[in-house]
Amino acid sequence: MKELSVYYCPTCGYYAYFQLSKNATCPTDHTRLVGLDMRYQDFMNLDYEERDRLLIGKITQSAPSLIRRICTSEKLYNQRALVGELTAEYAKLQKENEELNHTVSWMHQLVWEQIRRNKVLEQKMEVLKHD
Ligand SMILES: [Zn+2]
Repeated sequence: MKELSVYYCPTCGYYAYFQLSKNATCPTDHTRLVGLDMRYQDFMNLDYEERDRLLIGKITQSAPSLIRRICTSEKLYNQRALVGELTAEYAKLQKENEELNHTVSWMHQLVWEQIRRNKVLEQKMEVLKHD
């Protein structure tokens, strides 16, 4: 019988054991699970915290640099620093989002104004044609 292998979900961190990789799909978000380059028995010998640490390392390796920066291992075990950094990041993103929304509504106004002007011009041209 083929040995079990460890697979993890790069989206949500779920992990499970399968014999065949074709069965390895996340039940939550249906992402294809990624095989862990570690023997099943070695993984089983880790405690839950060590497993979390290992998988978090794997997931953040391919994550954008912001997430990598926030999730560096010493911060992960310093909850206050992590909360502080996330709060600051959240405030920054919220401000950026407000500015973007402002820009979008300003652009909408501009576009509608342009469309209205075009309509007026079209009407004027129609009138000229019929003169
Ligand atoms: Zn998942």
